[in-house]
Amino acid sequence: MDSLIIKNLIESFKKLPSIGDKSAERIVFSLLEFTSDDITNFSNNLLAFREKIGRCEICNNITFDNNCEICTDLDRNKSKILVVEKPKDVVSFERIGNYNGLYHVLGGVISPYSGIGPNDLSIEALIKRIDIDNVNEVILALKPNIEGETTMQYIGNILLKTGIKVTKIATGIPVGADIDYLDQMTLELAFEERKSIS
Ligand SMILES: [Zn+2]
Repeated sequence: MDSLIIKNLIESFKKLPSIGDKSAERIVFSLLEFTSDDITNFSNNLLAFREKIGRCEICNNITFDNNCEICTDLDRNKSKILVVEKPKDVVSFERIGNYNGLYHVLGGVISPYSGIGPNDLSIEALIKRIDIDNVNEVILALKPNIEGETTMQYIGNILLKTGIKVTKIATGIPVGADIDYLDQMTLELAFEERKSIS
């Protein structure tokens, strides 16, 4: 057995969240139980995922079509847009189940330290959506740390000029907490008690 192949495979699995040395080793050695077909299917599924996954032309969420399932759902309330940092945050809010509006995925937050400016994020597309659709509320739901607050302030300042209602989720979210790590009740409360930023 070529130990380099095993080492490389372990390194690949270690890139997954919550997988350290030991877990990665366990996964790699469990692959010994896989049939040749299992291994082929596994690698084909990974490749297909990488090739087919794209971004929704409207909201920048992940999708396997031009537009995501939420943007194409006629039952969604198109007058509200919830702005989040990453696609996984959409899943967190969908899990609460009481929000029926649309989303906009920024793809990050403004971070001078990491060299990420407003132009690196999907902010212009968000502002265009306000003009095109009949949006009456934009809810900002970014992480409450310096970068998240700066980004919400930046977007808020632009949107307030359009005259629409701009709110941000606030209560109960610990400073620096990742949206996708929050328990459902905390996130639900933060959403319900959102505050106007003007
Ligand atoms: Zn979409």
